[in-house]
Amino acid sequence: FDIREESYKNIENEVDNKLRPLNFNDFKGQDGIVDNIKVFVQAASMRNEALDHVLLHGPPGLGKTTLSNIIANELGVGFKLTSGPVLDKPGDLAGILSNLESNDVLFIDEIHRLSPVVEEYLYSAMEDYRIDILIDKGPGARSIQIELNPFTLIGATTRSGLLTSPLRARFGINCHLEYYDNGVLAGIVKRSSRILDTAISEEACAEISRRSRGTPRIANALLRRVRDFAQVKGNGQIDLEISKFSLKALNIDQYGLDEMDHKILNTLIDKFQGGPVGLSTIGTAIGEDSGTIEEVYEPFLIKEGFIKRTPRGRMATALAYSHLGKDSFNQQQY
Ligand code: ADP
Repeated sequence: FDIREESYKNIENEVDNKLRPLNFNDFKGQDGIVDNIKVFVQAASMRNEALDHVLLHGPPGLGKTTLSNIIANELGVGFKLTSGPVLDKPGDLAGILSNLESNDVLFIDEIHRLSPVVEEYLYSAMEDYRIDILIDKGPGARSIQIELNPFTLIGATTRSGLLTSPLRARFGINCHLEYYDNGVLAGIVKRSSRILDTAISEEACAEISRRSRGTPRIANALLRRVRDFAQVKGNGQIDLEISKFSLKALNIDQYGLDEMDHKILNTLIDKFQGGPVGLSTIGTAIGEDSGTIEEVYEPFLIKEGFIKRTPRGRMATALAYSHLGKDSFNQQQY
């Protein structure tokens, strides 16, 4: 059972949509970012202009899509959603762009996965609201220019390191979403249970939040599973006892670490004596791209104090040893 997979976007989409906040008021956390964005949104509205292009980066499930949708709602404009891998032909992009109404928001998820040709077209669209499309091939080839309505591109990425610099330079607003603290997550869990019409105790909210890796999408996914257990094995209400029972049955450990986190920590400790070891070496050992480890998995492990970054590479901390029940933590490693 992999809660990360389970909580993935396309699964249980309908429930997910019900839980998605639609305005700034319901979007909890990320205060610094949200406060700034509110100002930019208000200013753009007052001038009746398109909001500057926005780049949102950070690990999956932290609210990039949700926030983009909210921005469109608060601007009172249309919202179109697509993704880097889906937009594989310039014609697809041209079709979407030329159908945008004035000041609409176009959201491109996984924008680091755009093909170079499509990305090239995006440059002039972002800069001058214009695209040049090449028609026909060979001697008859000619290019036509399409004028676009002003629009806002919101790009989301888990891997900002993979963005080319010309693309990155075209975003006027650049925000990094951080993991949520447990208090904020508890508020999100409470709101979601209200929407799902399920009673939940404060302690249960706190327990589910603690094990959600600082990620609202995981918190909501866990809540739904605990709700199932409460319905079938309990009295339908979510209390601390049924939460603990369910989380145990789901194999979610005390810190919410999943299989991949365990794999990284175990490799670091068992194969490299706890480090220091370079990220690419860890990547090779577990068969995962080192950039993905760096941008998607590692930030949470560092935040929670399981891994330390040192000039000579990554090191497992005493907490990692004790949490995994390994007793050979060697102080001289520090
Ligand atoms: P991302 O695009 O970063 O992968 P999403 O925007 O799809 O993440 O968020 C995943 C789910 O988490 C959403 O369906 C939404 O219900 C919930 N969520 C995300 N951020 C928040 C927030 N700040 N407040 C409440 N719910 C949130």
